[in-house]
Amino acid sequence: MFESLSERLGGVFERLTKQGALTEDDVATALREVRVALLEADVSLPVARDFVKRVQEKATGQGVTKSVTPGQQVVKIVHDELVAVLRGDGPADALKIDNPPATILMVGLQGSGKTTTTAKLARRLAEKQGKRVLMASLDTNRPAAMEQLQILGVQIGVDTLPIVKGESAVQIAKRAKTQAAMGGYDVVMLDTAGRLHIDEVLMDEVQAVRDIAQPRETLLVVDGLTGQDAVNVAAEFDGKVGITGVVLTRMDGDGRGGAALSMRAVTGKPIRFVGLGEKMDAIETFEPERIAGRILGMGDIVALVEKAQETFEAEQAARMMKRFQKGLFNMNDLKMQLEQMMKLGGVQGMMGMMPGMGKMQKAAEEAGFDDKFIRRQVALINSMTKKERANPDLLQASRKKRIAAGAGLEVQELNRLLKQHRQMADMMKKMGKGGMMKQALKQMM
Ligand code: GDP
Repeated sequence: MFESLSERLGGVFERLTKQGALTEDDVATALREVRVALLEADVSLPVARDFVKRVQEKATGQGVTKSVTPGQQVVKIVHDELVAVLRGDGPADALKIDNPPATILMVGLQGSGKTTTTAKLARRLAEKQGKRVLMASLDTNRPAAMEQLQILGVQIGVDTLPIVKGESAVQIAKRAKTQAAMGGYDVVMLDTAGRLHIDEVLMDEVQAVRDIAQPRETLLVVDGLTGQDAVNVAAEFDGKVGITGVVLTRMDGDGRGGAALSMRAVTGKPIRFVGLGEKMDAIETFEPERIAGRILGMGDIVALVEKAQETFEAEQAARMMKRFQKGLFNMNDLKMQLEQMMKLGGVQGMMGMMPGMGKMQKAAEEAGFDDKFIRRQVALINSMTKKERANPDLLQASRKKRIAAGAGLEVQELNRLLKQHRQMADMMKKMGKGGMMKQALKQMM
């Protein structure tokens, strides 16, 4: 799957990761190629543009992690961004099949793999979740399609609704529901008719069936090989019928992969499953990490960077602890702590993590201790020279003026920062003598 996209991206990053230090130009060039690779994979232009922009921002603001090259770090950023785009605003839910019999409506164009997918999902529900499933084909135009579902049903040991000649799609849907309720089935899967193209007759029929069937899930089956077309088909079906999710088929082929990347961003609908072959077990739930790994084909580098980042953070913590124990706590330490706090979601995020902090949060807000305040403090520290940061005692009136002006703030604010620093340094010293240090640091990191 995704051979061409992953090959192209792989090529871009291989060159990048071989270099030791990266210039901004290197990253910019690589990202231009990433953009081209995405477009060639049939990712929609706005999605590709956004993607590259976000990677650029993250790559620029990143600190360097020891023991990995900057190029490897960029690969990791691209990977994380791929996962984010694929995941959209949250993980895809499991199929809603409580309140039996629950109806799953399968829709899509002819040839997309709808009937095959219906049977694959029925088999999954039966085997993995022990559900009793009834399948029914509503394709009154193509008797062969109805027979195909029946044959698959026998093959996987799932019941199908007996075929009655001359019934309309709506009539079959009604009969399937009645039969499911009487027969004690958990799930009814309705395999609707497909057309070669979206047309009004097809949409009208699907709408009528939907109104009768009241499905819990309406899954659109689209051919992953069709790239941007798949996304357009999804947008149209969603507008006309309302879908709850997408199944991308033929992801086993040498696809360009673009459909997977654009789907969530363009339609807002989650990909729920991917089809990976013609066999009945060739279906997987959609896992953004897995797909991102396949697109990039560089799982080893991603894992390496993750490990290095963990080690780096642990080393940083250990180094800080040693300094604190010696009673050393300078402006660099304070800055690191403030930044760590912002990383954990700012004042609110930190307090939210600790139980029973609701009241304290209010008090902190009233005292003006909020994210803006932290950012101002960091700006002040950034405005100091290296020497000043290491030794805040140097700060006399003229230096204070310069630092405050550099941060665009009042000297008063700087005095507040210095006072806070002194208090924290005292506390650190006291804690360093007791055994509380480890505890406190663990909580901070
Ligand atoms: P329908 O017209 O939408 O119902 O499509 P079918 O279910 O009849 O599928 C059309 C063809 O695509 C069949 O030959 C299937 O075996 C094949 N097919 C379906 N899903 C996949 C898939 O995920 N991968 C591959 N390689 N073939 C598939």
